[in-house]
Amino acid sequence: MTLALHWFRRDLRLTDNTSLNAALAQSEQVIPVYILSTWKNSHGWTGAPRQEFLCGCLESLARDLQSKGGRLIVRQGQADAALEELLRETGATSLHFNRDPDPFGWEMEKRVEAMARRLGVKVHAHADAAIHEREVLLSGAGTPFRIFTPYSKAWLKLPKPGPGRSVSRIATPANIPSLDLPTLAHWGLQSDASILKPGEAAARDRLCRFVDGPIFSYQEKRDLPSQAATSRISQDLRHGLLSIREIYARCEQAAAGASMEGRRNLQVYVSELIWREFYFQVLWHWPEVLEHEFQPKFRNLAWSEPGTAFEAWCAGQTGFPIVDAGMRELLATGFMHNRVRMITAMFLVKDLHVSWKHGERWFMQRLVDGEIASNNGGWQWSAGTGTDAAPYFRIQNPWSQTLRFDPEGTYIKQWIPELRDVPGKKLAQPPTPGLRFVKSYPLPLVDHAIERDKTLALYRQ
Ligand SMILES: Cc1cc2nc3c(=O)[nH]c(=O)nc-3n(C[C@H](O)[C@H](O)[C@H](O)COP(=O)(O)OP(=O)(O)OC[C@H]3O[C@@H](n4cnc5c(N)ncnc54)[C@H](O)[C@@H]3O)c2cc1C
Repeated sequence: MTLALHWFRRDLRLTDNTSLNAALAQSEQVIPVYILSTWKNSHGWTGAPRQEFLCGCLESLARDLQSKGGRLIVRQGQADAALEELLRETGATSLHFNRDPDPFGWEMEKRVEAMARRLGVKVHAHADAAIHEREVLLSGAGTPFRIFTPYSKAWLKLPKPGPGRSVSRIATPANIPSLDLPTLAHWGLQSDASILKPGEAAARDRLCRFVDGPIFSYQEKRDLPSQAATSRISQDLRHGLLSIREIYARCEQAAAGASMEGRRNLQVYVSELIWREFYFQVLWHWPEVLEHEFQPKFRNLAWSEPGTAFEAWCAGQTGFPIVDAGMRELLATGFMHNRVRMITAMFLVKDLHVSWKHGERWFMQRLVDGEIASNNGGWQWSAGTGTDAAPYFRIQNPWSQTLRFDPEGTYIKQWIPELRDVPGKKLAQPPTPGLRFVKSYPLPLVDHAIERDKTLALYRQ
């Protein structure tokens, strides 16, 4: 009887899972295992909302596996040590996993591979997270892309793999000891956000609902935070509840019967999926972006200490309604609309002069979709320090951004109930100096025009 291990990581699904399908094709029995991390109380790069989503995904995965005849084995600790124990206990002769898109994952992969070699176990590391893996696309000169547009053109030219099959049956040996499925208590956390439904089925519902309608007006509405006009599948991609190949294939199917206008909207949507892969390859080729600014000329900017202004930003109490609405949406749901991510990020960096690294970390701790590559890319873009960044002198004005993207204040009022009775248009300009919008809402922390000049001087230096 051949026995393989499939190590679940950020691929918590049974449909088109490259590694799981390979393990099933090559072995009669497969042990699907998830290894829990063992940190307690707080972590620099994750927090309660994402861990709660993870718990729900594992529950759903365990149910799905059971319905196919298998069983999810849960272990904890360092992945290499936990997998070694399981391999020794069971005598499995091969180990499969999907490659991770971030450096913390790559480090562990190296250790796992070394451990397996030591044990004489065959390791299979599969490409799964992207349509075109991080090292596949290079410019004509053989170098990685620094600019999105040529990357995107090259990406679109390559043939696309279709989605693989869905698991129909899985046999897992009986009597393998397993921990219980985790709850937030495992990490000593408590939930304080109202998150989307986890699990593969819920993710597929979201995708289908989007591709059936909203995708055809995506271009027009995607920047309006008060409209549910985007796909809301970022946490599903982050946890691998859907494969990127399935998503792309659904877009292709939708395009086949669509009008010219519909197809244009679809292209804009696909272009967002390409941004995700662009940032994966940036992180792969330049992992140092996690340490410092991509552009060397911006590595010694004189940032302000993240004191009370940073705390006000985190809490949604800056007195800039669009910024506070975004930060409160993040606190309440573990999500923030993309346009508002850009506004809040730029505000932290260019109005409060706090380093993007503090914001990057706060987002990672709060976002359910916290994705190291996209988050770093988004922050460095907003700071004007990244690969394909907004030039540093392009500084968004939070008031005019409000006028453009939330002119009636609908989004603002959803997240800042104390501003409910203020006429929407008033929220798109600073209040009269010294006068609050309402008693219970703070005055703007800074004057945007003054801070803008300071930023320009800081960056020019
Ligand atoms: C400062 C900042 C931080 C960000 N942090 C993250 C993060 O941690 N995780 C994350 O997934 N996205 C991040 N983004 C990108 C973007 O905001 C989210 O992907 C998007 O809001 C998710 O909502 P959606 O699924 O409805 O997106 P849609 O508009 O429906 O887009 C579809 C998918 O495309 C991808 N995508 C869209 N925009 C981008 C982008 N700019 N960069 C990379 N991928 C993109 C996502 O996977 C998304 O789910 C960040 C952007 C900024 C400006």
